[in-house]
Amino acid sequence: MKTWSCIENCGACCKFDLTDRADLSDKLNKDDIALINSMTSKDGWCKFLDRENKKCTIYENRPHFCQVEKFSSSFKEYKKKGDKFLIDCCKQHISSIHGVRSQQMRNFNIAISRK
Ligand code: SF4
Ligand code: SF4
Repeated sequence: MKTWSCIENCGACCKFDLTDRADLSDKLNKDDIALINSMTSKDGWCKFLDRENKKCTIYENRPHFCQVEKFSSSFKEYKKKGDKFLIDCCKQHISSIHGVRSQQMRNFNIAISRK
């Protein structure tokens, strides 16, 4: 069985477009939305992402909605599918940002098979 794992040099989930995420409406409160808006650059990328190294610069203090395992536990789909839900979400992000044949996708597939 595959186990979800985050990889280095990715950051594919650090670009926000809330208009596209109706599924988050009951997971984020007004403060969360205000925080997301304040964190988001005009091109949609989080201001706290070191874009060159694709690394979170506030990792230890990142908001709750960036803490994948914690945040995802409130999703019905996570309760049903567990890590498969997380893996599918990451694959969607990685595919749309880096491409389905990207190094990040290869690294992700290796990481989830390793555990
Ligand atoms: S898309 Fe997944 S693997 Fe990439 S940074 Fe986000 S959580 Fe990590
Ligand atoms: S705070 Fe960090 S983990 Fe969250 S979106 Fe920004 S760069 Fe990504």
